[in-house]
Amino acid sequence: MKQLWAPWRMAYVDQNSKEAGCIFCNKLQGNDPRDALVLATTPHSMAMLNKYPYNNGHLLLAPKRHEKNLSGLSADEFNDLNDALRRSVHILRQVLNPGGINLGMNLGKCAGAGIEDHLHWHVVPRWEGDTNFMPVVTETRVMPQHLLDSYDRLQPHFRYLSI
Ligand SMILES: [Zn+2]
Repeated sequence: MKQLWAPWRMAYVDQNSKEAGCIFCNKLQGNDPRDALVLATTPHSMAMLNKYPYNNGHLLLAPKRHEKNLSGLSADEFNDLNDALRRSVHILRQVLNPGGINLGMNLGKCAGAGIEDHLHWHVVPRWEGDTNFMPVVTETRVMPQHLLDSYDRLQPHFRYLSI
């Protein structure tokens, strides 16, 4: 296995973790950002750790508004999301020092979207030799402590995203 980036497998993982309603909208309504793994919110966007990560520090960035089409975002929403993406990549580079980062957005089920009704970016930090991570995660599915450790490490750096 040479490529970690495999959106169809993300859909597989996402489908195994279905919860009622939209995970992005649900997390925004929650009272405990740490419990929801929400790192930051901006005027129009949110950044959270993926509960089913492909790698350490795997982020999901979404507009706050439940929107399925990229063209459905207003200019303000789109710019805000892009800015959150740009800053998040910078933060991940600073804090986790990955060798590289994959950015991907899956639009529609056949493109691999697990949650197709609410747009989101996947931001996946990469390290040399990390390609064995995915099968491990797929088998274990949830790593709550690992996720909270990552959250606590990253969250202070994400504070300025919320300003
Ligand atoms: Zn939603």
